[in-house]
Amino acid sequence: MKHVILQNGPLSPWLEEQLAARYEVLPLHKQADPQAFLREQGARIEGMATSGKAGAKAALLDALPNLRVISSFGVGYDAIDIDKVRARGIPVGYTPDVLNDCVADTAFALLMDVARGTSASDRFVRRGDWLKGNFPLTTRVSGKRLGIVGLGRIGRVIARRAAGFDMEIRYHNRRPVEGSGYAYEPTLAGLAAWCDFLVIIAAGGAGTRHLVDAQVLRALGPQGFLVNVARGSVVDERALVKALQERTIAGAGLDVFDDEPNVPPALFTLDNVVLLPHVASATNETRRAMGELTLSNLDAFFATGQVPVAIPHPA
Ligand code: NDP
Repeated sequence: MKHVILQNGPLSPWLEEQLAARYEVLPLHKQADPQAFLREQGARIEGMATSGKAGAKAALLDALPNLRVISSFGVGYDAIDIDKVRARGIPVGYTPDVLNDCVADTAFALLMDVARGTSASDRFVRRGDWLKGNFPLTTRVSGKRLGIVGLGRIGRVIARRAAGFDMEIRYHNRRPVEGSGYAYEPTLAGLAAWCDFLVIIAAGGAGTRHLVDAQVLRALGPQGFLVNVARGSVVDERALVKALQERTIAGAGLDVFDDEPNVPPALFTLDNVVLLPHVASATNETRRAMGELTLSNLDAFFATGQVPVAIPHPA
């Protein structure tokens, strides 16, 4: 008998195929009436395959009384009701590390793009504006100051990329990272005031909500650029839109937003912002590695009762 798992939201086609071969997969997002479906099938469900985006909200967990394991495709688990899964002792698999390189690459792609105007100058050429004159001068990246908010797994890879650009690096976390070799800024506003580029790669969730607010943006100043590859919730989006419109910061590169896939329309007409549709980890190679880890976490649980790569579960 195959174990019954709930699929919460679409996953990569490769992962969906593999899951279907091993488990009885019930796809919640394909049900016409998800509530009725959960009332009927909820008690049969032992495992859940989800994503960083879909997560596992309290109401869904309540509808699954026999849930024993969650395997999430992604490293951010801010969309999972952690208190509830901890209280029920449900282990949660996730996919750290395998995506570090691609997310760091995307942070740099955004940083380079917004500073050097790559996308904006591409639009300039396509519009035929080059025939009328030259593209305005942009901002140098090499040798500048990079502030990293969240020197964790991905933050450290971003720092390594920055070393290749001869950048000076400082960071802000709640606590200094022993032996990192980078200078620690105890306040985020202090880091923002010091740096030319502020890259956000801290975890999402209630603890970091609107960490980057109007005050931090003021500290970043009219010559400063913001890059957010973490979560939309970490930045006060209204304050950011205002800062970009009024040019109280120089520009922003954004992969993540408050209410995805809705992006504030005010940003569409601004040339000092680069907008990506939450694709920082979205390469064939990395998505495959994330899929393999999502699968192996689930398989290991049903074989051994243990999830090898699980989110921390403090006692
Ligand atoms: P880690 O847990 O390794 O690092 C998170 C960092 O955030 C830590 O250094 C932590 O330091 C810091 N942090 C947490 N809370 C705060 C706070 N209140 N103030 C300042 N710093 C804080 O995670 P990863 O590097 O693996 O991933 C980081 C995040 O990136 C994920 O949680 C995810 O949301 C996002 N992400 C986005 C992707 C995308 O597609 N755009 C793809 C992959 C990840 P400390 O605990 O000392 O405060």
